[in-house]
Amino acid sequence: MKVLVPVKRVVDFNVKVRVKADNSGVELQNVKMSMNPFDEIAVEEAVRLKEAGKISEIVAVSIGPQQAQETIRTALAMGADRGILVKTDQLVEPLAVAKLLQKIVGDENLDLVIMGKQAIDDDCNQTGQMLAALLGWPQGTFASEVRLENGAVQVTREIDGGLETIKITIPAVITTDLRLNEPRYASLPNIMKAKQKPIDEKTPEDLGVDISPRLKSLKVEEPAKREAGIKVESVEELVGKLKQEGVI
Ligand code: AMP
Repeated sequence: MKVLVPVKRVVDFNVKVRVKADNSGVELQNVKMSMNPFDEIAVEEAVRLKEAGKISEIVAVSIGPQQAQETIRTALAMGADRGILVKTDQLVEPLAVAKLLQKIVGDENLDLVIMGKQAIDDDCNQTGQMLAALLGWPQGTFASEVRLENGAVQVTREIDGGLETIKITIPAVITTDLRLNEPRYASLPNIMKAKQKPIDEKTPEDLGVDISPRLKSLKVEEPAKREAGIKVESVEELVGKLKQEGVI
């Protein structure tokens, strides 16, 4: 069984994101970029399934600029077998990403997709669901546990107030939640080995997918600044202030 793991290059989760002066987006110049954290979890899960002998090959795909190759190399160093870079300098929206992934799944004869539930830059949480719909495959979203058994996969999902366990048939799309696993750090020997693993390069045109944007971003703004708090001396003073502010 062959597995696809899409890995997105995003602003590192430790970076304090700054909005551009003209409010057209966020600053990406000289900003540290890394693999989307939910995708790291997806790579880790695929590698564990391979180590357990349940899958035979892991293909890591990134859609983005040339530098997205580094994100693929990270996946290869964690244990993916080969990579595909779909090269574009354009911003690619979830529907177009899903269409590109659908094409790759078909071309490469893949049986399972394990991907992040959400990219931490656009916070869309759409691509996995759209991909499952385009492929006509079942989906197990927000997975906190994945068990492969006899052509089916049991997925425990994180839902409001609890967990839901579903069983879906393979081929399928799984999206990862935070508690699924703790991704490994790539060891130095594995980073060196990853340099020898193949990365294929394609363009959206090669795959016959139109990636022109369908959405228009009107404005990006910083969240409103929180007002500084004050200290009160007594409960009476607190109640007085709350009444004054119209809170009670
Ligand atoms: P989103 O729907 O944008 O929140 O993204 C959900 C997931 O789709 C991510 O965690 C990735 O696994 C995948 N994905 C989205 N955009 C890309 C991209 N440009 N390259 C590779 N994978 C992507």
